[in-house]
Amino acid sequence: MTSMRSATAKTSVPSDEVDRDAEVLGAVVVGAGFGGLYALHRLREIGLSVVGIEAAPDVGGTWYWNRYPGVRCDVPSLFYSYSWSPELRAEWRWSERYAAQAEILRYIGHVADRFELRPLIRFETRVTSATYDDADGLWTVRTNRGDCLRARFCIMATGCLSVPNTPDIPGVGDFAGPILHTAQWPHEPVDFTGKRVGVVGTGSSGIQAIPEIAKTARHVTVFQRTPNYSMPSRNGPLTEQDHVTFEAGFAAYLESLQHSEFGRVPPSAATAPIPPRDVQWQRYEDLWQEGGGAILYAYPNILTHHGVNDVACDFVRGKIRETVQDPQTAEDLCPTNHPIGVKRICVDSGYFETFNRPNVTLVNLRREPVERFTQTGVQTSDRAVELDMLVFATGFDAITGALLAMDIRGRDGRTLKDAWAAGPRTYLGLGVAGFPNLFTITGPGSPSVIGNVITNCEHHVDWLVDCLQHMHRGGLQTVEPEETAQDDWMDHVAEVASRTLYPEANSWYLGVNIPGKPKVFMPYVGAGYRHSCSKVAADGYTGFRFERETEGTVR
Ligand code: FAD
Ligand code: NAP
Repeated sequence: MTSMRSATAKTSVPSDEVDRDAEVLGAVVVGAGFGGLYALHRLREIGLSVVGIEAAPDVGGTWYWNRYPGVRCDVPSLFYSYSWSPELRAEWRWSERYAAQAEILRYIGHVADRFELRPLIRFETRVTSATYDDADGLWTVRTNRGDCLRARFCIMATGCLSVPNTPDIPGVGDFAGPILHTAQWPHEPVDFTGKRVGVVGTGSSGIQAIPEIAKTARHVTVFQRTPNYSMPSRNGPLTEQDHVTFEAGFAAYLESLQHSEFGRVPPSAATAPIPPRDVQWQRYEDLWQEGGGAILYAYPNILTHHGVNDVACDFVRGKIRETVQDPQTAEDLCPTNHPIGVKRICVDSGYFETFNRPNVTLVNLRREPVERFTQTGVQTSDRAVELDMLVFATGFDAITGALLAMDIRGRDGRTLKDAWAAGPRTYLGLGVAGFPNLFTITGPGSPSVIGNVITNCEHHVDWLVDCLQHMHRGGLQTVEPEETAQDDWMDHVAEVASRTLYPEANSWYLGVNIPGKPKVFMPYVGAGYRHSCSKVAADGYTGFRFERETEGTVR
């Protein structure tokens, strides 16, 4: 079927703002984390001239910025790796079941060197705007260093968790000591010896950092607003045999990714039985002993049915009460206001045990709110806590933060901010109606942050490369989602989420951690996402509209 785009007046980027003699690139890739690096590799492989732009001085993304003590992956290292290169797998050895940040960063650096990606990237350069020029179908990308690049495709690999959130707590500017954020951690080692350290935030970052800080600090005061479910990692060394076994099962693993339901809600959830409580309990015990976040796929309906989820919550609360000696601290650490798994499950190394240390105090902000920061610490409703250092583990403006931080303008000069004023809207999380040739790697409306994010990045890059090759074969100049396809997809994303327990938590998945952000459930949590994307492509990219070099629009 062919549909003509209604004849709109062609807008163009004002000529004084564009260097029209500049080389026109095939693509600009923004971000050099796992997503951006793979995009650079694949786009160059298919013969596109491509430039990467990265705000940091080096590759790594998340793993460049988040260097706080204790930071490591929550998906086992063997899986939290690229899947696309057998050579890479053959030459790389992970030292631990859950690798620490430094090792993951070394891995990404190795990939960048091994595949000669660094020369493609302009580091310490932040994209400030990207403007689509209706007149010639090109994007003009500008940076804080004055670059002005023109490209046919704009690939936003800017990360779902790359804009740190520092809450605006009264008096924070008065605090005289150092203030650190887990997501902007200094490169030089931070010495906590003899220091009274306050940590605000008990999500995955806080839960990983607190046990490590407590090992050397004089005292750690943890300011907790919402307790979280956390599973022990049971981290330990990996052997050569672990790698050999992993490789032997690799083809089956790759195949399973095609219909992976990890952390997502499978169709069988609606009809799956509710196992008896004692059967569930034993299963959760086995998973607790095994370690890691696998509790999320203990049962197909664990994220949809309170009859299953509640037992899992009780189980973890029981473990917290068993572990933490002080009964009030144990109660305060027990999550009670949300189901398990509907915020990303935390995976820790001795988190709950840390509260048995004499140098660790938990302040329950629900009972004892912070009134203000002072020059010497924190004044709560009940007491003054004297501190030498403050650590914010307060998360991110997630999923949309990095995209909306840039001034992105599509057809007719429409801004992405405007298009997403009521919450993000995409088709398949890959593209946005009205923003031709713009792709969002792990964009809102895709599984993005659910499950293993590296494999989600890979899937998006592979899909878009196939799409670009399809365009090349067909002499197609632009691609963009049709408004109706986007509307249907967003309805589907919301409908799937509404059949789950996900909306019951005030999580960053919903954007509620950022004041003023629209409350919209952003990730896609249905199963079969890859199948949907493949089907769209196989059926001739249904829901996408293409434009030929000579005006005509085809679908
Ligand atoms: P990022 O790694 O965030 O890279 C995006 C890059 O874009 C950044 O380097 C940023 O500087 C750059 N950028 C953004 N805006 C601009 C701009 N305007 N101009 C130029 N550059 C820009 N996921 C898992 O699946 N398993 C885990 O165990 C796991 N652990 C995590 C631990 C932490 C501490 C955090 C914060 C996240 C974790 N995640 C995990 C999620 C993690 O973000 C992804 O796994 C993955 O690293 C994301 O890769 P990315 O390339 O999509 O984005
Ligand atoms: P987060 O999950 O958003 O947690 C932020 C914490 O800060 C929450 O406890 C939050 O409390 C608290 N907070 C925010 N504003 C506050 C305020 N004004 N006063 C008091 N407390 C406040 O952020 P994160 O821990 O950085 O993790 C974000 C995501 O990154 C994770 O979900 C995960 O996907 C990824 N990550 C993964 C790992 C890993 O294990 N590999 C490690 C770190 C991060 P409320 O809950 O009450 O809002």
